[in-house]
Amino acid sequence: MSKLLIRPRRYPDECIVSYLIRISESNGFHHIGHLLQHAGLPWKNLRVPAHQMITGEYDIEPYFSYLGLNYTQPRTADTFKLSQSPFFTTKIFVKTPKICPICLEANGYSSDLWCHIAYTACIKHKLLLVDTNPHTGKRLSWYRRHLNRFTEDDPFPHGETLPKASPHTLAFTRTMACLIENRNTPKSMPTVLRGLNFSEALSIIHFIAHYQYRLFHKTLFAPVTLDNLAVSQHYTQAWKSLKHWPQGFHLLLSQYIDNPMSDRGQSGINKHFRDIHEKLYRQRDNSGIARLRAAFDQFIELNWPNAIQTNRLSRISLSSDERPLISQKDAQRILNCREPRIHSLISQGKIKPQQFKGKTYFNREEIELLSKLFADNWSMEQAVAETELSRYQLKQLLDSGLVKALQRADMKNRDWLICKNDWHKKISRFKKISCNNLKTGYSLNGLQKQGFSIVDIFSLLDKREIRFSFESSTTKPLSFKQLYKFAICYSQSKLDV
Ligand SMILES: [Zn+2]
Repeated sequence: MSKLLIRPRRYPDECIVSYLIRISESNGFHHIGHLLQHAGLPWKNLRVPAHQMITGEYDIEPYFSYLGLNYTQPRTADTFKLSQSPFFTTKIFVKTPKICPICLEANGYSSDLWCHIAYTACIKHKLLLVDTNPHTGKRLSWYRRHLNRFTEDDPFPHGETLPKASPHTLAFTRTMACLIENRNTPKSMPTVLRGLNFSEALSIIHFIAHYQYRLFHKTLFAPVTLDNLAVSQHYTQAWKSLKHWPQGFHLLLSQYIDNPMSDRGQSGINKHFRDIHEKLYRQRDNSGIARLRAAFDQFIELNWPNAIQTNRLSRISLSSDERPLISQKDAQRILNCREPRIHSLISQGKIKPQQFKGKTYFNREEIELLSKLFADNWSMEQAVAETELSRYQLKQLLDSGLVKALQRADMKNRDWLICKNDWHKKISRFKKISCNNLKTGYSLNGLQKQGFSIVDIFSLLDKREIRFSFESSTTKPLSFKQLYKFAICYSQSKLDV
């Protein structure tokens, strides 16, 4: 066992690295690198695995035992283990220390809570933790000689010069502390965090902070590299957006619409949302992220209905060909029509315009379905050309219901939509029931001259009370002219043939 002059015990909530600073200082070492080198740690340049001591990843016990110090697993190692499931926020500990100068002076040791990036303020003294020397701008170091000084002749600030923490920052830090220590959370905690553990709650806050940060800085949010003041501001802002849930989050998402990721406009927006969606989807096993995802889906559903296709859950399809909301120009192009027709379709309730960001959009799916309906059926002109009935005859058949219409012309709308499939079935049936051994018969005109209206003729055909011949046409396979040599065959006919 090595000779140490003083071996104070570690407090249960003392930061394990800061404890070594205390040991190193009280035994006259220059810093913890010298202390652990003395204990046999073979790291180069007097470096020590500070971060891995906090997370419990580095087995430091042999060196403790060499120094005659009692090693117990730090609490931070437990927090770290909890955050190790895949897709949880893992960057939870600081790279360089931060402290509350007043607590440090009063207690004589550093709290392990201060190791957490998310723990940004001292709740007791309502101060932001100190991690930067205000005189030099340099970060506080694990390799310092004195626990309560930046450097030999640079003590920690005191009194009025200490940075105050805002009530929001304090509320955030208080909740984080309760979650870290598994205590009952304060009543003021936002509802969306209820029932979550530290790691899950931090995931939500980190996620929001990350996207807020990206919105303005266009780079990744890496709290480990930022100082406590900056981290505190970003986390507090995210915390505030949790207060009004999900509106606070929706507000952030809508800011993306005004700040696309690139100057490519729409595709920049798509990239943002695809990115967010994918991230949320990948981390769906995290209950915190699952709650964010529900709020995200709600936002998309509200603003871009049908944007998330169930068959492509891992992607959000907002590419230009698949964007669920399309402009009126696109709608006209798909329907092959001009503006008045769009207005007519709106007034008929066939399509619904959507207002988004002050512009009118249409639901692509709705427009495409309508376009398909038009393509698969006939207008009056097309029906006249294909059936080779006159417009007048067709109108009578439509009015009587013997020919099926999908859309009738009326005051608001001059267009007929005639069911092609129904007519197709009619012609097939005529072909089937025709008899080709008729020697003689009327032409359609002849039949009408005998006093039969086209409606009468169709009714009789349906009842098989008119016999006829059928000659298939290859050029007009749906023409009524394929029927010829009509012969009335019912007993009470107006006119016997
Ligand atoms: Zn304090």
